[in-house]
Amino acid sequence: MKLPSNVSLHQKTLDFLKTPQKMFLDGEWVSSIKGNTFDSIDPSNGSILTEIPLADETDVDRAVTAAQNAFDTAWKTLAAADKSILIWRLADLIERDIQVFMELETLDNGKPIGKAEYDVKSTINHFRYYAGWATKIAGSTLPSSQDRLVYTKKEPLGVVGLIIPWNFPLMMCAWKLAPALACGNCCILKPAEQTSLTALYLGHLIAEAGFPKGVVNIVTGPGHPTGEALVAHQNVHKISFTGSTAVGKRIMEKAAQSNLKSVSLELGGKSPNVIFADAPMNKVLQALHWSSFYNSGQECTLGSRIYIEKKAYQQVVDTLLENTKKLSIDSGLANPDLGPLISQQQMNRVQHSIAAGQKEGGEIILGGTRCAAAHLHDGYFLEPTIFSHDNDRLTIVQEEIFGPVVVVSAFEDFDEVVARANDSNYGLAAAVWTKDSGKALRFADRMDAGTVWINGYDQFDPSVPFGGFKQSGIGKEMGESALELYTKEKAVWFNY
Ligand code: ADP
Repeated sequence: MKLPSNVSLHQKTLDFLKTPQKMFLDGEWVSSIKGNTFDSIDPSNGSILTEIPLADETDVDRAVTAAQNAFDTAWKTLAAADKSILIWRLADLIERDIQVFMELETLDNGKPIGKAEYDVKSTINHFRYYAGWATKIAGSTLPSSQDRLVYTKKEPLGVVGLIIPWNFPLMMCAWKLAPALACGNCCILKPAEQTSLTALYLGHLIAEAGFPKGVVNIVTGPGHPTGEALVAHQNVHKISFTGSTAVGKRIMEKAAQSNLKSVSLELGGKSPNVIFADAPMNKVLQALHWSSFYNSGQECTLGSRIYIEKKAYQQVVDTLLENTKKLSIDSGLANPDLGPLISQQQMNRVQHSIAAGQKEGGEIILGGTRCAAAHLHDGYFLEPTIFSHDNDRLTIVQEEIFGPVVVVSAFEDFDEVVARANDSNYGLAAAVWTKDSGKALRFADRMDAGTVWINGYDQFDPSVPFGGFKQSGIGKEMGESALELYTKEKAVWFNY
C-alpha cells in the first residue's frame, strides 16, 4: 500500500488492512476452501492493498447451505420487531465507524473521500429506512363471498444472492441488503472483485450487531466463478444484480436455466440531460459539470447525453468547459473533485470509446487523454472529456461509456428533443431544465425512463423508487417498491 505522505489513516483502517482478509460464512471468517486469492488494487497508484479470498462453486455452496439453515432455524421465526432492531443497530455501528468506511472506500474504489462520506451517510439512512419497513410488511383481506375468508401474506423468498458493482460499493450493498433483510430473507452478498473491502468490513459489524449466524454471508471473487456459481445455484431463490447490461442479460439466462429464480436488474444507462433556453441558467451551470463527471463518470444515471436548445448552446457549452477545467483531479485521499477510474481495464475501455468517437466523426472539445501530472502517472486518471456532435448514431451517443465522457448536441424544438432523448436502448433516467412547468411536465410524461428530474439531477432518497425501463433493468429498488423484489405473495382461502 502506498499513501500520500500527509495522510494518516484511522487505526481501525490500518488494523483491518493488516489482517489477512477472509470471507464471512455462517458467522465465521474463512479462507476459500482451495486457498485461492486475488489482489485488491488501489486505483490511484496501482499498488496492492491486500489479498482477498477467491470463492468457487464449493465456497458458494457452503454459503448457500448456511443461509438456508439460518432461514429455517433463526431468521424466519424471529419477530419482525427484532429484525428491525438488528437492522437499526447495524446502521448505528456504521455511523460509529464512518471514518473507517470512508477511508476503505476511497482506497479501494479511488473516489474522493468527501464523496465517500456522502455514500456512507446514505448507506446509514438506507438501513434505517428499511429497519422501519420490517414491521410494516402486510398482506390484505379480500372480498370473495360469504362464509369464506381470503387473505394474502407477503412471505420472504428464502436465500437471496446480491451481486454488487464497484462504483458505489457500500451504498449498493445497502440498497440490496437492507430491504432483503427487512423482508425476512437470508443473504449472500457478493461485492465486485475490484471493491470488496467495505463489504467485508460491514461483515464485522453485522456480526457485532448480533445477527444470527448465516443470515448474511459474504463471498468474494469475480464474475467467474463466484458470481456465476451464485446465479446457477439451485437453492438460491433470487438474484438482485447491479452492473452492466451485458452481464445482466447473462444472469437472466442462467437464472432461467437453473431453478427459474427471480431476478431484478439495475443496469446501464445513457441518460439525456435536456436544457431549454428558458432554463434557470444559474442552476444549470452550477450542476452540469457534476451531472456529467461525478464519480469520474462511473455512474449509470449520469447525464451523459447533453442536449441544449440552439439559442443557449454556446453560453452553456462555454460555461461547461470553464467549470470542467476547474475540476481538481487527484488521489481520493487528497479529496479532489474527481478521483481515478476503477482499473486499468476500465481506463482502456473508456479510451477505446474515445478513440471510436473521434474515428466516427465526433469532435473532442475538451480532454480525451490521460492526466499528465507526474504524481498521477501510476494511477488510472483520465481527463474529463467532452464531445460535440450532430449525429445521434455515433457509438459514443448510443453506448454507455462509464467514464468521464459526455456528448453535447444542439436542438431546435420540443418534439425533436423528445424523440432524440428517447432514441436509446436504455431508459434509466432523464432530466429537463426549463422554467416553463407545463413544458417540463409534458417532457416528463413523454420520457421512456424510470426517473425524470426537473431542474435538478442525480437526486436520490431511500423512499423514492429507482430502476430503469427498456434495457436499463427490471424491478424497482428503494422505497416501498423494493419490498416487491424480496417477497412473494401467497393467497389463503379459508372456508368457514
Ligand atoms: P463491469 O463490467 O463494469 O465490471 P459487471 O457488470 O461485469 O461490471 O460487474 C458487476 C458485478 O457483477 C460484479 O460483482 C461482478 O463480479 C459480477 N459479475 C460479472 N460477471 C458475472 C456473471 N457472469 N455472473 C454473475 N456475476 C457476474
